[in-house]
Amino acid sequence: MTTRAASAPRPRARAARRRSLSVASECVPLVKTGGLADVVGALPRALAESGWDQRVLVPAYPGVLDAFDALTPVWHDDDLFGGPAAVLAGRRGDVEFLLLDAPHCFARPGGIYGGAGGDHPDNPRRFAALSWAASRIALHGTGDGWRPDLVHAHDWQAGFTPSYLRYAGSDVPSVFTVHNIAFQGIAPADQIDELRLPTWDFHPGALEYHGLLSSLKAGIVHADAVTTVSPTYARELTTPQLGFGMEGVVAWRGDRFTGILNGIDTEVWDPGSDRELGRHYTVGRMAGKRVDRQRLLERFGLPDLAGPLVVIVSRLTYHKGIDLVPDALPPVLDAGGGLVVLGSGDPDQEHRLRGLAAAFPDRVGVHIGYDEPLSHLVIAGGDAILVPSRFEPCGLTQLYGLRYGTLPVVAATGGLVDSVRDATPETIGDHTATGFVAAPDNSDSLRRTLRRVVDCYRERRVWAGIRRTAMAQDVGWGPSARRYAALYDAVCEKREEPEGPRG
Ligand code: ADP
Repeated sequence: MTTRAASAPRPRARAARRRSLSVASECVPLVKTGGLADVVGALPRALAESGWDQRVLVPAYPGVLDAFDALTPVWHDDDLFGGPAAVLAGRRGDVEFLLLDAPHCFARPGGIYGGAGGDHPDNPRRFAALSWAASRIALHGTGDGWRPDLVHAHDWQAGFTPSYLRYAGSDVPSVFTVHNIAFQGIAPADQIDELRLPTWDFHPGALEYHGLLSSLKAGIVHADAVTTVSPTYARELTTPQLGFGMEGVVAWRGDRFTGILNGIDTEVWDPGSDRELGRHYTVGRMAGKRVDRQRLLERFGLPDLAGPLVVIVSRLTYHKGIDLVPDALPPVLDAGGGLVVLGSGDPDQEHRLRGLAAAFPDRVGVHIGYDEPLSHLVIAGGDAILVPSRFEPCGLTQLYGLRYGTLPVVAATGGLVDSVRDATPETIGDHTATGFVAAPDNSDSLRRTLRRVVDCYRERRVWAGIRRTAMAQDVGWGPSARRYAALYDAVCEKREEPEGPRG
């Protein structure tokens, strides 16, 4: 049994606006390695319309504090897992940030999770510190009198937040979102004391994961509600194929584990005003897209192409299915089309793609690296965007593709299923087609699908029709933010209900 810890009194009456604390290891525009950062950065603004004011707690990695004009200290701890720490509050745009300044955890060069030599060995402790700080802010509030009604923790890095709240007997409920179940925050069991977790709860029904600790599992077990980033991925996570060993615990959460599809920032990603494009375009005035296509071809040293220009913007890893592309590409090349890739990742994948560009110098352009501005031109200039992932919790680039009329060609997995409607005679006929869907992990299916893309591209009116439907999709945060707000409301109301008789 847990005991109630002393915490600041919280009014029971429902306030007009509610407060939530979002805690994550990355957030746009401060620090980003993947889609998680986009989601965490977009949610506060999207939720504001549904009556939720959200502050975002992220680590103050090197350079993060410099991105703020003014910062106010609102919390400190003389010993946050081995060193002094402070939380500084500041505003960027219309988002209120809380920055965890803990130099012993976060002031180090290189990537935020590690460097070329692998992950930082103390990652469990670094991100337990982040989770602990989040839980203390939820328990006691910040020095400026702010205290959340709910905490929303993201991925393994914030996974112990719901646990620390439970063990402190907090009345603040939590929501935990799994962005990618492949990353599980594993730590040796003998770190349990160091991570400030109770040994009595080290068993398979709570903290233990096959003899180890897993902050991801802890988040799934202890949060009041758990979400992932698409309805299809939520179902897939209950299967051994895609549950990565967590399928049992996901299934155990039952209907407390739901999928809410990510949106995109439709101001940043808008072909009608995108700062990175030479020419803007809208669904009613598509001429600018041809100009952007031309600029993209020039940028990659490719000549004008008669066939479709297929693009990829991706981390280059096995899970993204990039290795399937060379075998699937012939229909595009045979039709006079080409491929442009912007990405970075596994050296062997990068090597293969460079080889493809060398073999087809007039058809294939590859830029190895992470380049946000260039990604906008690539997505605007392409005719189709390829996302051949083996699994994909939600995926963002297919959503950019819909918005930019760059038709998504996707594998039937996760959020790709939930966001793209395959072009078939029926869906073309009733104007519901928005792209093309292939079987996952199957280069034959991908090749056949690219042949359909080529055929469709030749039928200019059909292509234009699919493009119109694609561009009309609501890929913004509106619908999803309303779902998160409804979940937050439900979770808070459940906690506020008086407890019934026990036993
Ligand atoms: P994941 O989070 O698994 O990497 P997502 O599709 O959810 O995949 O999000 C990837 C994000 O990173 C998108 O915003 C995408 O545009 C961006 N991105 C990926 N690779 C690059 C790159 N090389 N240059 C610029 N942006 C990239």
